Amino acid sequence: MPQIQCLPSHVADLIAAGEVVERPASVAKELLENAIDAGASAIVVELERGGLTYLRITDNGCGIAPTELPTAFLRHATSKLRTAGDLAAIGTLGFRGEALAAISAVSRVDIFSRQKGAESGAVLHLEGGVPGEVTEAGCPEGTTICVRDLFYNTPARMKFMKKDSAEGAAVSGIVQHLALSHPDISFKLIRDGAEVLHTPGDGKLLSAIYAAMGRDFAMGLQEIRGCGGEVEVSGFVTKPLNGHGTRGRQVFFVNGRFVKSQLLQAALEEAYRNQLLKGKFPGCVVHVTLPPDMVDVNVHPAKTVVKFVSDKAVFDALYYTVRDALDAENKPAVPAPKQESFYQSMTVQQYKEKTAAAEMKKPLGSYTQRPAAPVPKASLMGEVRDVVQPRPAPPVVPVAEKKPAPPVKKEEPVQQAEMVLPSSLVEEAVQQTIEKKEAPWRMVGEVLRTYIICEDERENLWLIDKHAAHERIRFNKLKADDHPLMSQLLLTPLAVTLAAEEYAAVLEHLDTLQRFGFACEDFGDGTVLVREIPADIRTGDAASTLEELAQKLLLGRIDPEGMRDELYHTMACKSAIKAGMVSDAAELAALVERVQSGEIKYCPHGRPVAVQMTKYEIEKMFKRA
Ligand code: ADP
Ligand code: MG
Repeated sequence: MPQIQCLPSHVADLIAAGEVVERPASVAKELLENAIDAGASAIVVELERGGLTYLRITDNGCGIAPTELPTAFLRHATSKLRTAGDLAAIGTLGFRGEALAAISAVSRVDIFSRQKGAESGAVLHLEGGVPGEVTEAGCPEGTTICVRDLFYNTPARMKFMKKDSAEGAAVSGIVQHLALSHPDISFKLIRDGAEVLHTPGDGKLLSAIYAAMGRDFAMGLQEIRGCGGEVEVSGFVTKPLNGHGTRGRQVFFVNGRFVKSQLLQAALEEAYRNQLLKGKFPGCVVHVTLPPDMVDVNVHPAKTVVKFVSDKAVFDALYYTVRDALDAENKPAVPAPKQESFYQSMTVQQYKEKTAAAEMKKPLGSYTQRPAAPVPKASLMGEVRDVVQPRPAPPVVPVAEKKPAPPVKKEEPVQQAEMVLPSSLVEEAVQQTIEKKEAPWRMVGEVLRTYIICEDERENLWLIDKHAAHERIRFNKLKADDHPLMSQLLLTPLAVTLAAEEYAAVLEHLDTLQRFGFACEDFGDGTVLVREIPADIRTGDAASTLEELAQKLLLGRIDPEGMRDELYHTMACKSAIKAGMVSDAAELAALVERVQSGEIKYCPHGRPVAVQMTKYEIEKMFKRA
């Protein structure tokens, strides 16, 4: 055995750096949290090349004394924790005292800092964690840290970096989340010279949402506020009519920390049960506050998971708060923020519209889209539908009183759907007519523009869900073919604005998307420009399809195999005929044929495509048997 030795400190720092500094976004997060801890009211983040070559964060916080500058970069140097007892009552965001040490170990750092009220400030340069001399410098009150050439001395780590645009998007995501959890601080983000986000820091959450997530999203929100026991809930949620195509706009904070939580997601969505159109999801920016001992913060600081001591208390608090808000009828809408000059100077969308060439179509964020044609009420099929509800049963929540159906769902007239015949089906139908062999079944018709009724030779009655059946056929074909999908060139490219994570995923997987018929390019600041879309998808569905694919690409990080199937699911679903659409008889016959042949039984999500009733069962219902 070799002798046991302490690691030289720079080696230890590199190891620690590996934990803290994964990518530019993690550097940004640590530095921003330091600035927040320092009491800053305004923070500017500037980055170039996704933050890999240049990331600078300027705050107007308390500053650091010149003599303490080198100390701040020592491992376990912190001004925020003195005893182990302090750990329990952690109020500040950072508490390990190793972020600066770790960051400086893998980059070139310049720090300028001047304490509040001090005559002058000081500057320090560090190279791979090795500090130079502290020299006096004239600088504004507060701290500026500039991190250059991240991972220049750890090429192995560098290899893991994604495209600049994806890293930059991840930094934007961090800034966005911090801006939403600190409406009292003004955040400004400048990416490759262009301002992409600027919150006013006026203390109002809605202002921060408006600035960080866009005008359209902010306009479709309603406020929530409530509590259950010691759990407080506040924030904004989507009005039922403004559902989104994915969950990408659900943002949760627990005690000020951005978290991902299936529990919170389930509580939110459960509150919208029967209020949203099928396939739509609520968006939200929700803050959950609870006593520190009711939540486990002792998880990896870079991770976003959270554990509650009582899941039920948290679920109930959020569920009832949201439901009460949605139920409160005739509640006046949340007034939109006033159009002050601040907003005019800042929405990314407006900036884009101005700069994009004149022929460019107005950016079509998914949330500006017309809602999909509502599915006709299928009371006849209620049972079948319920049994096959795709999502997992939510925790049992007592429902206080039975409420009349909310006004939004009231028997909206079925929209006259565009007649789009999926070409594959038509071909098949034509083929069948040519062959003209006697089918062993008889089509009776279609009801509710969704279900095909037919009878077979053995006197069974069939109900076939035309969308589910077609979706399965499309899915099987896509999987079997396994070659790139045909695309159609759009006359006017479509600008699709995505949530930060989805945006990063799209940029990371441009090749995959091309295989699925989407030709996209980076348009900056969360927007991608779509030039081609899959041939059998309607233009109106393109944005929501891309959004959904992006969500599934995110999944791919965990399960690349599963991701492929998921992508096929989306394409199959979007290109299949929809419930509520007008279908012609040939189309329906082609579907019945495939179902009757026994070839397809379940849709790709596992729902049955058909239900059967025997003659005996029917007779029993009429007390004939
Ligand atoms: P931690 O935040 O866990 O204490 P860091 O390595 O991130 O550890 O920072 C070390 C110390 O440097 C902090 O405790 C704080 O005193 C000081 N510091 C870091 N950034 C700033 C800043 N932007 N403004 C004022 N002080 C700062
Ligand atoms: Mg810190």
